[in-house]
Amino acid sequence: MLSAASAFLIPPAEQTKEVLPVEQFQPRSMLHVHETKVERAAYPVIDMHTHITFAGGLEGPGEIRFAASAEECLAVMDRKNIRTMVNLTGGYGANLQQAIDKLQTAHPGRFIVFTEPAWSKAADADYPRVQADLIEDAHKRGAKGLKILKTLGLYLRENVTTGKLVRIDDRRFDLMWEAVGALNMPVAIHSSDPEAFFLPIDRYNERWEELHAHPDWSFYGKDFPSNRELQEARRNIMRRHPRTQFICLHVADSEDLAYVSECLDEHKNMHVEIAARIGELGRQPRTAYQFIEKYQDRLMFGTDAIPHGTQTPQQVFNDQLYEIYYRFLETRDEYFDYAPAPVPPQGRWRIYGIGLPDQILKKVYYQNAERLLGLSA
Ligand SMILES: [Zn+2]
Repeated sequence: MLSAASAFLIPPAEQTKEVLPVEQFQPRSMLHVHETKVERAAYPVIDMHTHITFAGGLEGPGEIRFAASAEECLAVMDRKNIRTMVNLTGGYGANLQQAIDKLQTAHPGRFIVFTEPAWSKAADADYPRVQADLIEDAHKRGAKGLKILKTLGLYLRENVTTGKLVRIDDRRFDLMWEAVGALNMPVAIHSSDPEAFFLPIDRYNERWEELHAHPDWSFYGKDFPSNRELQEARRNIMRRHPRTQFICLHVADSEDLAYVSECLDEHKNMHVEIAARIGELGRQPRTAYQFIEKYQDRLMFGTDAIPHGTQTPQQVFNDQLYEIYYRFLETRDEYFDYAPAPVPPQGRWRIYGIGLPDQILKKVYYQNAERLLGLSA
């Protein structure tokens, strides 16, 4: 029999250790922390970033797909005090018309629809004019803004799907940026992605599990620009089109709030929205609070919610998702999940509430969006 002292003499390699695969590790926090259940937002919410319809891709618009009916959305909205959902991916032309008819026109004040560029035409010689005309057409149909997916910068190529990647600040889009500016249609733009998506998928990558589950989300290597190059290209268009209002989605780059602050200070036409980044804001709650306090007139509520979305629990449109956002913004609760999922889906961290005061909450929940979208209270 080994004495307690001699057990230490066994070399580590010979001790039998149980190996636990990381995906099976589901630690339960032993902190006895306070939990506030925030079932309804303190003020009516405009969710600036949702996807109820999907209406296009690089190959052409295809047929519009509704992830849920208006009625299905309204049930959640009424329970959670969501006044308006902004459906960003409305496409253009006939698709856009369907989205507007079934959502915005059928339920005034409850839904807003944005248009999207005709990416499949971007290689055509007359594209700049055609695109500017499509913006005019979208505006006449009732679209309230323009959505730019990260398609621009990361997927769109010179021959649409082949050739060199088209830069975000490519001149062929100048007419489009000007057209939306002249029509007071804000641009909701998503460029780049979490910084870890641009780094090797190795043991040092904080999103290893997320990237391991979705390797196609990685933009490391190949001919992709760096995270910062994409961000700087976006700054070029904000610089060149000062009359056009840009809502940089996902806090523009929530890992680096000092950089986003620098951008907001320089570009008065820049705004940000918080969708799918409370996992970043909520693990730097003091910096996040100061950031939101400083830019309280240019920051908006958003979730990136997709009805029945299954791939990404941090984006599934349901009651629990909104309760987490409200808890983050309204309470000072500590160490809670940022997504309704058994394992934190973006990375194994938890977040802290920032407890915004009422006058900032109102701005974030609806007043800033109302102003930018030209809505009356
Ligand atoms: Zn989105």
